[in-house]
Amino acid sequence: MSENKVSQKQGVLGEHAIVIGGSMAGLLTARVLSDYFERVTIFEADTPPEEAVPRKGVPQGAHAHGLMAGGADVLRKYFPDFHDDLVAAGAEYGDPMLNWRGLVGARWSPRIESGMGTYVMSRPLLEAVVRKHTVAIANVELRVATPVSGYTHSTRDARGAGPTSNDSNIAVTGVILEQSGETVAADFVADVSGRNSKASSWIEAMGFTPPERSNIGVDVGYVTFEVAEPPNNQRDWSILVVNQKDIPKDTRAGAIFYKEGGRYLVLASGFHKDYAPTDWPGFLAYMKALPFSSVYDEIKDLQPIGEAREYRFASYLRRHYERLQHFPQRLVVLGDVMCSFNPIYGQGITVAAKEAEHLDACLKQCLQGNGLDNSGLDNGSLGNGRLDKVAQPFFKGAAKFIDAAWDGTTVEDLRYPQTRGERPKGYGLLKWLNRKFFALSGTDEEFSVAFVKALSLVEPPESLLKPKYLLKAVFAKMPEQDREPPFRPVK
Ligand SMILES: Cc1cc2nc3c(=O)[nH]c(=O)nc-3n(C[C@H](O)[C@H](O)[C@H](O)COP(=O)(O)OP(=O)(O)OC[C@H]3O[C@@H](n4cnc5c(N)ncnc54)[C@H](O)[C@@H]3O)c2cc1C
Repeated sequence: MSENKVSQKQGVLGEHAIVIGGSMAGLLTARVLSDYFERVTIFEADTPPEEAVPRKGVPQGAHAHGLMAGGADVLRKYFPDFHDDLVAAGAEYGDPMLNWRGLVGARWSPRIESGMGTYVMSRPLLEAVVRKHTVAIANVELRVATPVSGYTHSTRDARGAGPTSNDSNIAVTGVILEQSGETVAADFVADVSGRNSKASSWIEAMGFTPPERSNIGVDVGYVTFEVAEPPNNQRDWSILVVNQKDIPKDTRAGAIFYKEGGRYLVLASGFHKDYAPTDWPGFLAYMKALPFSSVYDEIKDLQPIGEAREYRFASYLRRHYERLQHFPQRLVVLGDVMCSFNPIYGQGITVAAKEAEHLDACLKQCLQGNGLDNSGLDNGSLGNGRLDKVAQPFFKGAAKFIDAAWDGTTVEDLRYPQTRGERPKGYGLLKWLNRKFFALSGTDEEFSVAFVKALSLVEPPESLLKPKYLLKAVFAKMPEQDREPPFRPVK
């Protein structure tokens, strides 16, 4: 360990914790675990490059990533120098209601000071800064190019539970490294290996019922070009978005995200296989044909740097760990392992950050001996015994953040008759209310801020259910906007 590493440890729940996957969710999880375990090892399959460039294990890194204010708050909380480092590396910081200009929810988002603050930069830069801060923690080690191929676990309990499945006394005791076959013991394992994680099949092989899945099929395709910002360009946005105005008729959207180093990531996203062309003239024509030409106007005289990059996202995938009655002890999963969202809404990192913060709260309860019952097993230290009970309360709490993100976006995506997936009970009412919320937020400043705070996971969705908001929403009308409203600078 380098001498200038900072120790953050507050208490000890065990000697060693393992994190599988060192991407955004894994790094944050390791940061949280470093407060409770003597040492934390992150096993990462990839070798993340020194520079902030896309890497193999995170292919979406070449595409624009928005960071919601709720996620930015969590990152600042856990990494005190995060803000300064990220901004010094070229990220643009500001109030998302002022800096993100967008046609969203069929109306232009009002530009009002909200008190929230977040960053606009490339995804690889964000991850590189979070990685730098995580590996600087004295008791965290990142082992790159080290894929994990399974869990080790305890055998069935001494009562001779036999070959029945779902024996809740079985604990994960470590991991198996794919290349060497070596096993590494741990008191606690967090599987944060992304959407393609094998966690559910690995627990099934241990005799547990795997989680149920929900899929919402949207067949979204991304096409991204990188361009250089023109010299002396005057812009009053860090992100500019033109989403669909009339769903289900409109399937296309366009956006520009500022990227450090004076570049833009220009993104076309099409629902239901309405993919954008990958040649620049065709791409420009696509942007010009959107309900507003705002993105086209910014890029029409520019030339791309390199080829278009594509990404196809067939469906949301949620694994309902919160519904499981039985789960191995001393194992949790976070991030895209639990839920991968339609990327156009930019929720994944923020939900993962809120999950990591919730894991912190669960572990704090273990340490303080509150709330989570000791399992009664003879597992050594008091802390260790309590660790056996972390998973279920963790999953139940994490599901609230997933619900908050899932409910607000699937309600929009299910407007397309082609969208595959179960419509929730009362879908007609939900669809109507969501549109009314967008309409009200186009005209009522107080509600607008409350609405964006809920969408950004700064406040819970219940914060919108005040009688005064609901009453106004019922009578709200979508503002008529034939052109983009002029920017009203903050007083
Ligand atoms: C096109 C696209 C655009 C997106 N845009 C946004 C956005 O605007 N805003 C936003 O918040 N989110 C966005 N997301 C989602 C976001 O990328 C993820 O939610 C975020 O990266 C957190 O994911 P994660 O850390 O759980 O998993 P991932 O980022 O997928 O990382 C998983 C990590 O685990 C490693 N790994 C995998 N298997 C193993 C193994 N067996 N052993 C060891 N290591 C392993 C991988 O190498 C990788 O580093 C987007 C996603 C896509 C696909």
